[in-house]
Amino acid sequence: MNEKIIEEIVREIINKSGISLEGVSGDQGVFERVEDAIDAAYAAQREWYIKYKVEDRRRIIEAVRTAARKNAEMFARMIRDETGMGRYEDKVIKNLAVIDKTPGVECLTTDAISGDSGLMIEELAPYGVIGAITPSTNPTETIINNTISMIGGGNAVVFNVHPGAKKVCAVCLQILHRTIVENGGPENLITMQREPDMEAVNKMTSSPKIRLMVGTGGMGMVNALLRSGKKTIGAGAGNPPVIVDNTADIEKAAKEIYRGASFDNNLLCLAEKEVFVMEEAADELIRKMREEGAYLMTAEETERLLDIVFIKKNGEYSVNKKWVGKDAGVILESIGIHNMDTRLVICQVPHDHPFVLVEQLMPVLPVVRCKTFEECIKYAVIAENGNRHTASMFSKNVDHMTRFAKEIETTIFTKNAATLVGVGIGGEGHTTMTIAGPTGEGLTCARSFTRRRRCMLADGGLRVI
Ligand code: NAD
Repeated sequence: MNEKIIEEIVREIINKSGISLEGVSGDQGVFERVEDAIDAAYAAQREWYIKYKVEDRRRIIEAVRTAARKNAEMFARMIRDETGMGRYEDKVIKNLAVIDKTPGVECLTTDAISGDSGLMIEELAPYGVIGAITPSTNPTETIINNTISMIGGGNAVVFNVHPGAKKVCAVCLQILHRTIVENGGPENLITMQREPDMEAVNKMTSSPKIRLMVGTGGMGMVNALLRSGKKTIGAGAGNPPVIVDNTADIEKAAKEIYRGASFDNNLLCLAEKEVFVMEEAADELIRKMREEGAYLMTAEETERLLDIVFIKKNGEYSVNKKWVGKDAGVILESIGIHNMDTRLVICQVPHDHPFVLVEQLMPVLPVVRCKTFEECIKYAVIAENGNRHTASMFSKNVDHMTRFAKEIETTIFTKNAATLVGVGIGGEGHTTMTIAGPTGEGLTCARSFTRRRRCMLADGGLRVI
Protein backbone atom coordinates (compact mmCIF):
# COMPACT_ATOMS: atom_id res chain seq x y z
CA MET A 1 0.00 0.00 0.00
CA ASN A 2 1.46 3.37 -0.84
CA GLU A 3 1.32 6.36 1.46
CA LYS A 4 -1.47 8.10 -0.47
CA ILE A 5 -3.85 5.16 -0.08
CA ILE A 6 -3.02 4.91 3.64
CA GLU A 7 -3.73 8.62 4.05
CA GLU A 8 -7.08 8.24 2.31
CA ILE A 9 -8.04 5.35 4.59
CA VAL A 10 -7.10 7.35 7.68
CA ARG A 11 -9.07 10.34 6.41
CA GLU A 12 -12.12 8.14 5.78
CA ILE A 13 -11.93 6.61 9.26
CA ILE A 14 -11.63 10.07 10.82
CA ASN A 15 -14.56 11.36 8.75
CA LYS A 16 -16.73 8.41 9.75
CA SER A 17 -15.95 9.04 13.43
CA GLY A 18 -17.43 12.53 13.04
CA ILE A 19 -14.29 14.50 13.90
CA SER A 20 -13.66 17.72 12.08
CA LEU A 21 -10.21 17.99 10.61
CA GLU A 22 -10.81 21.70 10.33
CA GLY A 23 -10.88 22.16 14.12
CA VAL A 24 -9.29 25.05 15.96
CA SER A 25 -5.57 24.91 15.44
CA GLY A 26 -3.35 25.36 18.44
CA ASP A 27 -0.09 27.19 18.88
CA GLN A 28 2.31 24.21 18.61
CA GLY A 29 0.03 22.10 20.80
CA VAL A 30 -1.03 24.93 23.12
CA PHE A 31 -4.75 25.73 22.92
CA GLU A 32 -6.94 28.39 24.50
CA ARG A 33 -9.79 25.91 25.22
CA VAL A 34 -9.34 22.42 26.57
CA GLU A 35 -12.19 21.17 24.34
CA ASP A 36 -10.11 22.05 21.28
CA ALA A 37 -6.99 20.53 22.84
CA ILE A 38 -8.94 17.28 23.34
CA ASP A 39 -10.43 17.24 19.81
CA ALA A 40 -7.04 17.89 18.23
CA ALA A 41 -5.34 15.20 20.33
CA TYR A 42 -8.13 12.77 19.44
CA ALA A 43 -7.57 13.26 15.71
CA ALA A 44 -3.80 13.00 16.17
CA GLN A 45 -4.07 9.76 18.14
CA ARG A 46 -6.18 8.04 15.46
CA GLU A 47 -3.51 8.95 12.94
CA TRP A 48 -0.65 7.95 15.27
CA TYR A 49 -2.18 4.56 15.91
CA ILE A 50 -3.39 3.72 12.42
CA LYS A 51 -0.80 5.29 10.16
CA TYR A 52 2.43 4.97 12.09
CA LYS A 53 4.48 1.89 12.91
CA VAL A 54 6.09 1.10 16.24
CA GLU A 55 9.43 1.87 14.57
CA ASP A 56 8.15 5.41 13.86
CA ARG A 57 7.35 5.78 17.55
CA ARG A 58 10.91 4.69 18.40
CA ARG A 59 12.44 7.17 15.96
CA ILE A 60 10.28 10.10 17.05
CA ILE A 61 10.92 9.37 20.74
CA GLU A 62 14.67 9.50 20.06
CA ALA A 63 14.19 12.90 18.41
CA VAL A 64 12.17 14.06 21.44
CA ARG A 65 15.04 12.98 23.71
CA THR A 66 17.57 14.91 21.62
CA ALA A 67 15.49 18.09 21.59
CA ALA A 68 14.80 17.90 25.32
CA ARG A 69 18.50 17.25 26.06
CA LYS A 70 19.47 20.40 24.14
CA ASN A 71 17.08 22.42 26.29
CA ALA A 72 17.53 20.73 29.69
CA GLU A 73 19.50 23.62 31.17
CA MET A 74 17.03 26.18 29.90
CA PHE A 75 14.12 24.20 31.39
CA ALA A 76 15.93 24.00 34.75
CA ARG A 77 16.56 27.74 34.77
CA MET A 78 13.00 28.58 33.74
CA ILE A 79 11.49 26.29 36.38
CA ARG A 80 13.63 27.88 39.08
CA ASP A 81 12.61 31.37 37.92
CA GLU A 82 8.92 30.62 37.57
CA THR A 83 8.28 28.43 40.63
CA GLY A 84 10.97 29.85 42.92
CA MET A 85 11.52 26.32 44.20
CA GLY A 86 14.41 23.87 44.19
CA ARG A 87 17.99 24.01 42.91
CA TYR A 88 19.05 24.66 39.34
CA GLU A 89 21.82 22.04 39.17
CA ASP A 90 19.54 19.31 40.56
CA LYS A 91 16.79 20.22 38.10
CA VAL A 92 19.26 19.69 35.27
CA ILE A 93 20.00 16.21 36.68
CA LYS A 94 16.28 15.40 36.96
CA ASN A 95 15.54 16.55 33.42
CA LEU A 96 18.47 14.55 32.04
CA ALA A 97 17.41 11.47 34.01
CA VAL A 98 13.95 11.39 32.42
CA ILE A 99 15.39 12.18 29.00
CA ASP A 100 17.94 9.35 29.15
CA LYS A 101 16.20 6.75 31.27
CA THR A 102 12.49 6.84 30.48
CA PRO A 103 11.93 3.67 28.43
CA GLY A 104 10.24 3.99 25.06
CA VAL A 105 8.66 1.24 22.97
CA GLU A 106 11.17 -1.35 24.22
CA CYS A 107 9.03 -2.01 27.26
CA LEU A 108 6.05 -3.04 25.10
CA THR A 109 6.25 -6.82 24.99
CA THR A 110 4.01 -9.39 23.33
CA ASP A 111 2.88 -12.57 25.08
CA ALA A 112 2.29 -15.55 22.83
CA ILE A 113 1.00 -19.08 23.35
CA SER A 114 0.94 -21.66 20.60
CA GLY A 115 -0.76 -25.04 20.94
CA ASP A 116 -2.80 -27.63 19.08
CA SER A 117 -5.73 -25.21 19.08
CA GLY A 118 -3.82 -22.40 17.43
CA LEU A 119 -1.86 -19.28 18.22
CA MET A 120 -2.73 -16.62 20.74
CA ILE A 121 -0.98 -13.31 21.09
CA GLU A 122 -1.63 -10.60 23.63
CA GLU A 123 -0.32 -7.17 22.80
CA LEU A 124 -0.17 -3.83 24.57
CA ALA A 125 -2.42 -1.42 22.70
CA PRO A 126 -3.02 2.30 23.29
CA TYR A 127 -5.85 3.63 25.42
CA GLY A 128 -6.34 6.56 23.03
CA VAL A 129 -6.18 10.07 24.45
CA ILE A 130 -4.82 10.40 27.98
CA GLY A 131 -5.49 13.37 30.25
CA ALA A 132 -2.35 14.01 32.31
CA ILE A 133 -2.17 16.29 35.37
CA THR A 134 1.33 17.42 36.27
CA PRO A 135 2.88 18.90 39.44
CA SER A 136 4.79 22.11 40.14
CA THR A 137 7.62 20.17 41.76
CA ASN A 138 8.77 18.37 38.55
CA PRO A 139 7.05 20.32 35.78
CA THR A 140 9.06 19.72 32.59
CA GLU A 141 10.44 16.48 34.00
CA THR A 142 6.90 15.07 34.14
CA ILE A 143 5.95 16.43 30.71
CA ILE A 144 9.03 14.86 29.09
CA ASN A 145 8.64 11.60 31.01
CA ASN A 146 4.90 11.31 30.35
CA THR A 147 5.29 12.26 26.68
CA ILE A 148 7.87 9.53 26.04
CA SER A 149 5.87 6.90 27.95
CA MET A 150 2.44 7.84 26.66
CA ILE A 151 3.18 8.35 22.96
CA GLY A 152 5.45 5.30 23.22
CA GLY A 153 2.31 3.37 24.17
CA GLY A 154 0.57 4.72 21.04
CA ASN A 155 -1.49 7.39 22.85
CA ALA A 156 -1.94 11.13 22.53
CA VAL A 157 -1.85 13.33 25.66
CA VAL A 158 -3.72 16.40 26.83
CA PHE A 159 -1.85 17.96 29.74
CA ASN A 160 -3.30 20.07 32.51
CA VAL A 161 -0.18 21.48 34.10
CA HIS A 162 0.24 23.15 37.48
CA PRO A 163 -0.70 26.86 37.19
CA GLY A 164 2.50 27.77 39.06
CA ALA A 165 4.63 26.34 36.24
CA LYS A 166 2.42 26.98 33.21
CA LYS A 167 4.91 29.11 31.25
CA VAL A 168 7.83 26.67 31.34
CA CYS A 169 5.43 23.78 30.70
CA ALA A 170 4.06 25.51 27.58
CA VAL A 171 7.58 26.18 26.28
CA CYS A 172 8.60 22.56 26.92
CA LEU A 173 5.45 21.18 25.30
CA GLN A 174 5.92 23.37 22.24
CA ILE A 175 9.53 22.24 21.80
CA LEU A 176 8.50 18.59 22.01
CA HIS A 177 5.50 19.21 19.74
CA ARG A 178 7.65 20.88 17.09
CA THR A 179 10.12 18.02 17.26
CA ILE A 180 7.39 15.42 16.75
CA VAL A 181 6.05 17.28 13.70
CA GLU A 182 9.48 18.02 12.22
CA ASN A 183 10.24 14.31 12.42
CA GLY A 184 7.14 13.38 10.48
CA GLY A 185 4.75 12.78 13.38
CA PRO A 186 1.19 14.12 13.56
CA GLU A 187 0.37 17.55 14.87
CA ASN A 188 -1.25 17.77 18.31
CA LEU A 189 -0.10 14.42 19.63
CA ILE A 190 0.62 16.35 22.82
CA THR A 191 -1.55 19.33 23.74
CA MET A 192 -2.49 21.54 26.68
CA GLN A 193 -4.79 24.40 27.59
CA ARG A 194 -2.68 27.56 27.89
CA GLU A 195 -4.27 28.61 31.18
CA PRO A 196 -4.68 25.44 33.24
CA ASP A 197 -7.61 25.28 35.66
CA MET A 198 -9.88 22.90 37.55
CA GLU A 199 -12.67 23.37 35.04
CA ALA A 200 -10.38 21.98 32.36
CA VAL A 201 -9.71 18.93 34.54
CA ASN A 202 -13.47 18.41 34.94
CA LYS A 203 -13.96 18.70 31.18
CA MET A 204 -11.21 16.14 30.68
CA THR A 205 -12.70 13.62 33.10
CA SER A 206 -16.14 13.99 31.55
CA SER A 207 -15.02 13.84 27.91
CA PRO A 208 -15.75 10.52 26.16
CA LYS A 209 -12.72 11.20 23.97
CA ILE A 210 -10.41 10.82 26.97
CA ARG A 211 -10.00 7.17 27.93
CA LEU A 212 -7.59 7.45 30.83
CA MET A 213 -6.59 10.07 33.38
CA VAL A 214 -3.09 10.09 34.86
CA GLY A 215 -2.60 12.29 37.90
CA THR A 216 0.84 13.15 39.27
CA GLY A 217 0.68 15.36 42.35
CA GLY A 218 -0.92 15.62 45.76
CA MET A 219 -3.57 13.27 47.15
CA GLY A 220 -6.36 15.87 46.84
CA MET A 221 -5.94 15.79 43.07
CA VAL A 222 -5.46 12.01 42.86
CA ASN A 223 -8.58 11.37 44.94
CA ALA A 224 -10.59 13.86 42.86
CA LEU A 225 -9.62 11.96 39.69
CA LEU A 226 -10.44 8.60 41.28
CA ARG A 227 -13.88 9.90 42.27
CA SER A 228 -14.55 11.15 38.74
CA GLY A 229 -15.47 7.68 37.51
CA LYS A 230 -12.89 7.82 34.72
CA LYS A 231 -10.20 5.13 34.67
CA THR A 232 -7.30 6.73 36.56
CA ILE A 233 -3.66 6.06 37.21
CA GLY A 234 -2.79 7.97 40.35
CA ALA A 235 0.69 9.01 41.42
CA GLY A 236 0.19 10.71 44.76
CA ALA A 237 2.08 12.08 47.72
CA GLY A 238 4.74 10.30 49.72
CA ASN A 239 6.35 10.93 53.08
CA PRO A 240 9.31 8.56 52.88
CA PRO A 241 10.72 7.38 56.20
CA VAL A 242 14.33 6.25 56.63
CA ILE A 243 15.37 3.74 59.28
CA VAL A 244 18.98 3.60 60.45
CA ASP A 245 19.60 0.57 62.67
CA ASN A 246 22.48 -0.36 64.94
CA THR A 247 24.29 -2.39 62.24
CA ALA A 248 24.38 0.40 59.64
CA ASP A 249 27.48 2.00 58.16
CA ILE A 250 26.75 5.33 59.82
CA GLU A 251 29.16 7.38 57.76
CA LYS A 252 27.53 6.15 54.57
CA ALA A 253 24.04 6.65 56.00
CA ALA A 254 24.84 10.27 56.90
CA LYS A 255 26.31 10.99 53.48
CA GLU A 256 23.48 9.41 51.51
CA ILE A 257 20.66 10.85 53.63
CA TYR A 258 22.23 14.31 53.35
CA ARG A 259 22.54 13.91 49.58
CA GLY A 260 19.00 12.59 49.05
CA ALA A 261 17.12 14.86 51.47
CA SER A 262 18.79 18.01 50.14
CA PHE A 263 18.51 17.15 46.42
CA ASP A 264 16.40 19.85 44.72
CA ASN A 265 15.56 21.09 48.24
CA ASN A 266 13.58 17.92 48.97
CA LEU A 267 10.94 18.54 46.29
CA LEU A 268 10.94 14.95 45.06
CA CYS A 269 8.03 12.89 46.35
CA LEU A 270 10.48 10.06 46.98
CA ALA A 271 13.06 12.11 48.90
CA GLU A 272 13.86 11.21 52.52
CA LYS A 273 11.39 13.09 54.72
CA GLU A 274 12.11 11.77 58.25
CA VAL A 275 14.67 9.55 59.94
CA PHE A 276 14.11 6.95 62.67
CA VAL A 277 17.42 5.96 64.20
CA MET A 278 18.12 3.41 66.92
CA GLU A 279 19.31 5.15 70.09
CA GLU A 280 22.78 3.60 70.06
CA ALA A 281 23.49 4.94 66.54
CA ALA A 282 21.78 8.33 66.92
CA ASP A 283 24.62 10.49 68.25
CA GLU A 284 27.05 9.28 65.62
CA LEU A 285 24.52 9.73 62.80
CA ILE A 286 23.81 13.31 63.82
CA ARG A 287 27.52 14.05 64.23
CA LYS A 288 28.30 12.66 60.78
CA MET A 289 25.40 14.54 59.19
CA ARG A 290 26.76 17.75 60.68
CA GLU A 291 30.17 16.89 59.27
CA GLU A 292 28.49 16.52 55.86
CA GLY A 293 27.25 20.09 56.26
CA ALA A 294 23.82 19.78 57.93
CA TYR A 295 22.74 22.50 60.35
CA LEU A 296 21.30 21.04 63.60
CA MET A 297 18.59 23.26 65.07
CA THR A 298 18.10 23.53 68.82
CA ALA A 299 14.70 22.54 70.26
CA GLU A 300 13.80 26.22 70.56
CA GLU A 301 14.79 26.98 66.94
CA THR A 302 12.82 23.94 65.78
CA GLU A 303 9.60 25.16 67.40
CA ARG A 304 10.13 28.68 66.07
CA LEU A 305 10.58 27.34 62.55
CA LEU A 306 7.46 25.19 62.90
CA ASP A 307 5.40 28.33 63.57
CA ILE A 308 6.78 29.94 60.42
CA VAL A 309 6.71 27.17 57.81
CA PHE A 310 3.50 25.50 58.97
CA ILE A 311 -0.05 26.79 59.32
CA LYS A 312 -2.10 25.57 62.28
CA LYS A 313 -5.86 25.51 61.86
CA ASN A 314 -8.31 23.72 64.17
CA GLY A 315 -5.41 21.81 65.72
CA GLU A 316 -4.24 20.50 62.30
CA TYR A 317 -0.91 21.43 60.75
CA SER A 318 -0.40 22.05 57.04
CA VAL A 319 2.56 23.38 55.10
CA ASN A 320 2.80 27.09 54.31
CA LYS A 321 3.39 26.78 50.52
CA LYS A 322 5.53 29.92 50.58
CA TRP A 323 8.37 27.85 52.04
CA VAL A 324 8.12 24.76 49.83
CA GLY A 325 11.38 24.01 47.98
CA LYS A 326 13.27 26.97 49.45
CA ASP A 327 17.03 26.78 50.11
CA ALA A 328 18.06 25.65 53.60
CA GLY A 329 19.91 28.97 54.08
CA VAL A 330 16.74 30.96 53.28
CA ILE A 331 14.70 28.83 55.69
CA LEU A 332 17.26 29.45 58.45
CA GLU A 333 17.19 33.19 57.77
CA SER A 334 13.50 33.14 58.73
CA ILE A 335 14.47 32.25 62.31
CA GLY A 336 17.33 34.72 62.44
CA ILE A 337 20.20 32.38 61.57
CA HIS A 338 22.19 34.17 58.90
CA ASN A 339 24.75 33.23 56.26
CA MET A 340 24.65 29.49 56.83
CA ASP A 341 26.26 27.60 53.97
CA THR A 342 24.23 24.40 54.16
CA ARG A 343 21.90 22.35 51.97
CA LEU A 344 20.03 20.68 54.83
CA VAL A 345 18.57 21.61 58.20
CA ILE A 346 18.08 18.81 60.74
CA CYS A 347 16.31 18.67 64.09
CA GLN A 348 15.61 16.15 66.84
CA VAL A 349 11.90 15.72 67.52
CA PRO A 350 9.47 13.15 68.94
CA HIS A 351 7.81 10.66 66.54
CA ASP A 352 4.51 12.53 66.46
CA HIS A 353 5.92 15.97 65.60
CA PRO A 354 4.35 17.77 62.58
CA PHE A 355 7.76 17.83 60.85
CA VAL A 356 7.54 14.01 60.90
CA LEU A 357 3.88 13.48 60.06
CA VAL A 358 3.26 16.15 57.39
CA GLU A 359 4.87 15.99 53.94
CA GLN A 360 6.94 19.20 53.91
CA LEU A 361 8.87 19.29 50.61
CA MET A 362 11.55 21.41 52.28
CA PRO A 363 15.20 20.69 53.16
CA VAL A 364 14.26 20.28 56.83
CA LEU A 365 14.78 16.74 58.05
CA PRO A 366 13.53 15.58 61.45
CA VAL A 367 15.45 12.83 63.25
CA VAL A 368 13.60 10.62 65.76
CA ARG A 369 15.50 8.52 68.31
CA CYS A 370 13.97 5.08 68.91
CA LYS A 371 14.77 2.63 71.69
CA THR A 372 14.35 -0.50 69.59
CA PHE A 373 14.13 -1.60 65.97
CA GLU A 374 10.44 -2.42 66.53
CA GLU A 375 9.85 1.16 67.59
CA CYS A 376 11.58 2.42 64.41
CA ILE A 377 9.24 0.32 62.26
CA LYS A 378 6.12 1.29 64.19
CA TYR A 379 6.74 5.03 63.87
CA ALA A 380 7.98 4.79 60.26
CA VAL A 381 4.76 3.04 59.22
CA ILE A 382 2.67 5.73 60.94
CA ALA A 383 4.68 8.54 59.28
CA GLU A 384 4.38 6.96 55.83
CA ASN A 385 0.65 7.34 56.30
CA GLY A 386 -0.44 4.47 54.05
CA ASN A 387 0.84 6.27 50.94
CA ARG A 388 2.80 3.12 50.01
CA HIS A 389 5.22 5.38 48.16
CA THR A 390 8.89 5.12 49.21
CA ALA A 391 10.92 3.99 52.22
CA SER A 392 14.59 3.48 52.87
CA MET A 393 16.82 1.66 55.29
CA PHE A 394 20.46 1.68 56.30
CA SER A 395 21.46 -1.66 57.79
CA LYS A 396 23.56 -4.75 57.31
CA ASN A 397 20.95 -6.96 58.92
CA VAL A 398 19.01 -8.74 56.18
CA ASP A 399 16.26 -9.80 58.58
CA HIS A 400 15.72 -6.18 59.60
CA MET A 401 15.58 -5.02 55.99
CA THR A 402 13.12 -7.75 55.01
CA ARG A 403 10.95 -7.06 58.03
CA PHE A 404 10.73 -3.32 57.31
CA ALA A 405 10.06 -3.89 53.60
CA LYS A 406 7.12 -6.17 54.47
CA GLU A 407 5.64 -3.86 57.07
CA ILE A 408 5.94 -0.63 55.08
CA GLU A 409 4.66 -2.03 51.71
CA THR A 410 5.98 0.90 49.68
CA THR A 411 6.33 0.96 45.88
CA ILE A 412 10.02 1.87 46.24
CA PHE A 413 12.24 0.46 48.97
CA THR A 414 15.90 1.43 48.88
CA LYS A 415 18.70 -0.02 50.96
CA ASN A 416 21.94 1.71 51.94
CA ALA A 417 21.67 4.58 49.45
CA ALA A 418 19.78 7.81 48.85
CA THR A 419 16.20 7.14 47.72
CA LEU A 420 17.13 8.89 44.45
CA VAL A 421 18.54 5.54 43.29
CA GLY A 422 14.97 4.24 43.40
CA VAL A 423 14.15 6.20 40.25
CA GLY A 424 17.36 5.24 38.50
CA ILE A 425 19.31 8.39 39.40
CA GLY A 426 22.59 6.66 40.21
CA GLY A 427 20.80 3.31 40.50
CA GLU A 428 19.71 0.46 38.27
CA GLY A 429 16.32 0.55 36.60
CA HIS A 430 14.38 3.08 34.61
CA THR A 431 13.37 6.60 35.58
CA THR A 432 9.87 7.96 35.92
CA MET A 433 8.32 11.04 37.45
CA THR A 434 4.96 9.28 37.80
CA ILE A 435 5.18 6.71 40.58
CA ALA A 436 1.72 5.22 40.79
CA GLY A 437 1.47 3.84 44.33
CA PRO A 438 -2.26 4.37 45.04
CA THR A 439 -3.44 2.56 41.89
CA GLY A 440 -0.60 0.02 41.77
CA GLU A 441 1.13 0.56 38.42
CA GLY A 442 4.32 1.41 40.28
CA LEU A 443 7.15 3.09 38.37
CA THR A 444 5.30 3.85 35.17
CA CYS A 445 6.63 3.40 31.62
CA ALA A 446 4.98 2.99 28.20
CA ARG A 447 3.56 -0.41 29.28
CA SER A 448 1.57 1.29 32.07
CA PHE A 449 -0.33 3.37 29.50
CA THR A 450 -1.55 0.47 27.40
CA ARG A 451 -4.44 -1.97 27.43
CA ARG A 452 -4.06 -5.65 26.76
CA ARG A 453 -5.68 -6.96 23.62
CA ARG A 454 -5.81 -10.61 22.53
CA CYS A 455 -5.64 -11.90 18.99
CA MET A 456 -6.34 -15.56 18.11
CA LEU A 457 -5.45 -17.62 15.11
CA ALA A 458 -7.39 -20.84 15.62
CA ASP A 459 -7.04 -24.46 14.46
CA GLY A 460 -3.30 -24.94 14.65
CA GLY A 461 -2.50 -22.12 12.28
CA LEU A 462 1.10 -20.91 11.99
CA ARG A 463 2.64 -23.95 13.69
CA VAL A 464 5.66 -25.84 12.41
CA ILE A 465 5.23 -28.92 14.62
P1 NAD B 1 -0.63 19.63 43.73
O1 NAD B 1 -1.48 18.50 44.19
O2 NAD B 1 -0.79 20.96 44.38
O3 NAD B 1 -0.83 19.86 42.18
C1 NAD B 1 -0.69 18.81 41.24
C2 NAD B 1 -1.59 19.06 40.06
O4 NAD B 1 -2.93 18.80 40.44
C3 NAD B 1 -1.58 20.48 39.52
O5 NAD B 1 -1.63 20.44 38.11
C4 NAD B 1 -2.83 21.09 40.13
O6 NAD B 1 -3.30 22.13 39.32
C5 NAD B 1 -3.75 19.90 40.14
N1 NAD B 1 -4.79 19.87 41.17
C6 NAD B 1 -4.68 20.23 42.46
N2 NAD B 1 -5.85 20.00 43.13
C7 NAD B 1 -6.69 19.44 42.23
C8 NAD B 1 -8.05 18.96 42.28
N3 NAD B 1 -8.80 19.02 43.39
N4 NAD B 1 -8.58 18.43 41.14
C9 NAD B 1 -7.86 18.35 40.03
N5 NAD B 1 -6.58 18.81 39.91
C10 NAD B 1 -6.01 19.35 40.98
O7 NAD B 1 0.88 19.12 43.87
P2 NAD B 1 2.24 19.91 43.68
O8 NAD B 1 2.48 20.77 44.85
O9 NAD B 1 2.33 20.49 42.35
O10 NAD B 1 3.22 18.65 43.74
C11 NAD B 1 3.66 18.11 44.94
C12 NAD B 1 2.86 16.91 45.36
O11 NAD B 1 2.86 15.94 44.34
C13 NAD B 1 3.49 16.23 46.56
O12 NAD B 1 2.47 15.75 47.39
C14 NAD B 1 4.30 15.10 45.94
O13 NAD B 1 4.54 14.03 46.82
C15 NAD B 1 3.39 14.71 44.82
N6 NAD B 1 4.12 14.06 43.71
C16 NAD B 1 3.97 12.73 43.51
C17 NAD B 1 4.65 12.11 42.49
C18 NAD B 1 4.54 10.63 42.24
O14 NAD B 1 5.12 10.17 41.27
N7 NAD B 1 3.86 9.88 43.07
C19 NAD B 1 5.48 12.85 41.64
C20 NAD B 1 5.60 14.23 41.87
C21 NAD B 1 4.90 14.83 42.90
